[in-house]
Amino acid sequence: MEPARRDLVQRSGFGAAARASDVVTAADARIAIVFGTRPEVVKLAELARRLEDAAVLVNTGQHWDDAMSGVFLRDLGVGRPDHVLEIGGLSRGEQIGEATAVLSRLFVDVRPAAVVVQGDTNSALAGALAANAVEAPVVHLEAGLRSFDRRMPEEHNRVIIDHLAEVCLAPTEVGAANLRAEGIAPERIFVIGNTVVEAVRRLLPPPEERAALLRSFGVEAGRYVLATIHRPENTDGKALAAVLAALAAVPVPVVLPLHPRTAARVASAGLGPLLAGLRVVDPLPYVAFLGLLAECGLAVSDSGGVQEEVSVLGRPVVVVRRSTERPEVQGTWAQLVDPGPALTAAVAGLWADLPAIHQRLAALPSPYGDGTASARAELAIRQLAGRGLTTFCRE
Ligand code: UDP
Repeated sequence: MEPARRDLVQRSGFGAAARASDVVTAADARIAIVFGTRPEVVKLAELARRLEDAAVLVNTGQHWDDAMSGVFLRDLGVGRPDHVLEIGGLSRGEQIGEATAVLSRLFVDVRPAAVVVQGDTNSALAGALAANAVEAPVVHLEAGLRSFDRRMPEEHNRVIIDHLAEVCLAPTEVGAANLRAEGIAPERIFVIGNTVVEAVRRLLPPPEERAALLRSFGVEAGRYVLATIHRPENTDGKALAAVLAALAAVPVPVVLPLHPRTAARVASAGLGPLLAGLRVVDPLPYVAFLGLLAECGLAVSDSGGVQEEVSVLGRPVVVVRRSTERPEVQGTWAQLVDPGPALTAAVAGLWADLPAIHQRLAALPSPYGDGTASARAELAIRQLAGRGLTTFCRE
């Protein structure tokens, strides 16, 4: 074994015998946090803040522009990443391969007591593979989500990450049951809620700021639709025209912050005219997006995070997807539809009964917990790091 690697294994306490001079205390333990996209920043921010100096922040650069990444790091108070990679714009295979290679070298230097990844992105998978390659334990935040839809790359990513992880932090019992059904040992599974709850609570602007925000968009509370569309199943092929035509047919203002991938597909497919009736804007900073989501009549989205956020904000969402890995919100906050006429019909159906729906949703507790998921995650991670060190110290 090469010296750097042997040192890593010893110091993390997951390997061979060590010299007394190698002893590191729990206070020295470094926790690498790997992220690359805006939803990962949203969901890891509070945990990173809690881990303070122990956190080593690694941005893979999967989302590289300021509107999709930099503004999220600033607004969520994450601070400057300690290490930045540049995997944005590469193919899926290249992103996973290149990030895994670079991260595994980085982990040899950093010697993390644990590596935290979140969700189901290529960055998260690369972080887990790289940690596994240097025998550092993986902590998977948002573990156990399953769409059972093998056409989605994210489904493959999340299954692999969960099986590599030493600790699976599931948002709900549904996720925990999925993990147990796949044979993951119960002692590796913790149900902690979803960290998006505390992100929403911390970043949601107060009512007077929301009112000013709505004025700047020229919309009235409860009288507009907020839409986001970015998944390949909706942006590649014929679906995009069907989704945009359905949004254009909605008889109230539709605010559409356009994801870079969607904007590129609109341009290449010549679908610009379908945007004419919509209020198209650049991707919004999180605070502004939350403000608009809290005050909309309803949302239309293919985003995972938005399905969770509406459960905190008490708004209904029409989910334009073939499948979902978030059954907890289906039939209450969320309704799954195919792109096209079913989308128009679902919006019309909800709109007809909106005040009663808002009232009903306001009374329902979010299935994603009470805003303590980051604190629970911190505890589990510190215990894991401490356990590794204790094992090491006994040798
Ligand atoms: N979001 C945002 N600004 C926007 C659109 C979305 O801040 O213009 C936030 C949204 O609130 C959610 C996250 O971005 O927290 C979702 O990101 P995305 O849809 O890219 O990924 P997914 O959640 O589907 O993985």
